[in-house]
Amino acid sequence: MTVMNSNKIELTQKLLDWYDENGRQMPWRFRGAAPNPYPVWISEIMLQQTTVVTVMDYFLRWMKHFPTLESLAKADIDDVLHAWQGLGYYTRAKKLHECACVLMDKYQGKFPTKREELLKLPGIGPYTASSICAFAFNQPETVVDGNVIRVVARLCGLMQEVDKDIIYPLAQQLTSKTRGADYASAIMDLGATVCKPQNPLCLSCPWNKNCIAAKQGIQNEVPKIKKLQKRKAHGAIFLAFDDKGALLLTKRDKGLLSGLFEFPWNIESVEPPFDEKWKKQGKKIHHVFTHIDYTADIYIAHNVKQTGLFVQPKNLKDYALSTLMKKVVKAML
Ligand code: SF4
Repeated sequence: MTVMNSNKIELTQKLLDWYDENGRQMPWRFRGAAPNPYPVWISEIMLQQTTVVTVMDYFLRWMKHFPTLESLAKADIDDVLHAWQGLGYYTRAKKLHECACVLMDKYQGKFPTKREELLKLPGIGPYTASSICAFAFNQPETVVDGNVIRVVARLCGLMQEVDKDIIYPLAQQLTSKTRGADYASAIMDLGATVCKPQNPLCLSCPWNKNCIAAKQGIQNEVPKIKKLQKRKAHGAIFLAFDDKGALLLTKRDKGLLSGLFEFPWNIESVEPPFDEKWKKQGKKIHHVFTHIDYTADIYIAHNVKQTGLFVQPKNLKDYALSTLMKKVVKAML
């Protein structure tokens, strides 16, 4: 498939000209190749799960805590998780730390510049590898995120359901051979500020005259993206207070949330972690994980005799809690 009816070099140049005038400023972004891949990598991992506006604060705080690859590699994993707290997907924070250690130990503190080498590093998948190659090394790598899918599907007037695999070869035809970094930023900025999900600003778009969706007036109907079905799960979270009013916390040692502190909980059962006089509370907690729509009953027991880590509610802020557990704290304590 080709980008229909248009000269691709001209399309690319129009977008780059638009970017030179209108590109967004971001603390991790540079015109042309970034002088240091470290901030590019951190921002890319953060941006995988939340918006640019949310990432701004997290990114600036992170760079104060861990300004260099070396400082991240040397940091205690609990400090890393604490800095990540609130962004979710904690495995990514642990992989950042692990990857920093590997880069310091085996790559003399330097990111490899080849995509295949980057893919061997912990936590770096195809998307992040392409992003680092484009943004940090100005290579002609095609980076496809939700913005790019929307812009390219509209430009080509694709009415069928689309995903990354369908969009990639089309987006690849438009990628600049000489300004990989600016081009990747440009198409993302176009999607974020002009070719918005609803009511795109077609009159301000550099591709207005080439865009099939705009010509046909179908821009609000494109793209059609297949949605993931989330599984529903019903479980329970247990707040165990000792005789001093402190709460039992455990540290998770496996899975997506490993390394984080939590109250005992189950994802799909209400079976308590140990025998006590548990009382079910009126409130429920609702949380949406990537593939699971989760609802939990809350159970409380007082004067428990368990041994373990007991923390006064006012000191919970010193522990890295998952977003789910923070919801519990907000609702119950
Ligand atoms: S012309 Fe409109 S629909 Fe087409 S790419 Fe530009 S903003 Fe998007």
